Amino acid sequence: MDCSRRRHTCVVALVLIGWLPGCSAPRAQPAPTSSQQPAPAVPPITIDSTEEQIRQAVGTARFGKKLTPAAWPNGARVAVCLTFDVDNELLQRANPLPVPLSVGEYGATTAVPRILDVLDRHQVPATFFIPAMGVMLHPEMLSAIVGRHRHEVGVHGWIHEFWPGVGDAAKEERMLAKDIDYLTKATGTRPVGVRAPSSGFSPQTFGLIRKAGFLYDSSLLAADEPYEIVSNGEPSGVIELPIAEVSNDYVYYGETANGAMPSPDAVFAIYKAEFDLAYQERTMFILTQHPHVGGRRSRIVNLERLITYIKSKGDVWFATMEQVANYVKQPRS
Ligand SMILES: [Zn+2]
Repeated sequence: MDCSRRRHTCVVALVLIGWLPGCSAPRAQPAPTSSQQPAPAVPPITIDSTEEQIRQAVGTARFGKKLTPAAWPNGARVAVCLTFDVDNELLQRANPLPVPLSVGEYGATTAVPRILDVLDRHQVPATFFIPAMGVMLHPEMLSAIVGRHRHEVGVHGWIHEFWPGVGDAAKEERMLAKDIDYLTKATGTRPVGVRAPSSGFSPQTFGLIRKAGFLYDSSLLAADEPYEIVSNGEPSGVIELPIAEVSNDYVYYGETANGAMPSPDAVFAIYKAEFDLAYQERTMFILTQHPHVGGRRSRIVNLERLITYIKSKGDVWFATMEQVANYVKQPRS
């Protein structure tokens, strides 16, 4: 975009692009400069909070029992999950103007087909978290994913709404039910996994996820390996497959997809180092990508480069999140 000739359009677009959060970027502390950020959903912890108040404040969804098995299938040292948060246009819903929308639309027109080609070449599975209305806008994109018969589709909100901002537990429960129903009808399979848009858990969210019967969640960040979520002191039975901001494209490239630094080589070095220690520790590695961000030409080459590097190790298990969750849930003697 030539900003010297279309200054106003540029400013509007950049402001819109700039404040909207990344898919998985936690926003527990909303930026004070934006009047459009939701109010805190829970009372803050202050110097006057009692021990019990602090315990309650942090107790909704906590780290519990580690679930990394002694061995992964076929003797693999590490499990690898490639995950894609397919947000596309829905990050621009607050002010849906054509130019910023088109930045997201790129995810469906170009990036997802490109990602699917890479996954096909390497014959590896992946998990796609897609907002229901993203499926509505791009049914052909969903068909391409489901048609591979190798990938998983998980819940990622209705319009990528920030759940703490819904502000009403009953409404949040109805939204989640709609999400599940829509994806079930669209894919033919009931989703078993969920990743909260913008990592937004309200005080009610985890209880709703548990009540809905999800096998796993992938929104929290409390460890580098699978664990059981403990809620208010009690094991919940829900598996957490935790994400990591350092393994997320959004934190490096942001929304603009304009080729700014850091270089894809620098990002690749971080992903590789994250995988290498997971391999050494025999746990798991979860990569989180946003097609309209990480699917740009100069960046997608690193997905293939990373898969090639990981495969060169040999004893690695590429799996969907559902496959990993089912495996770690199995009782073992
Ligand atoms: Zn997202």
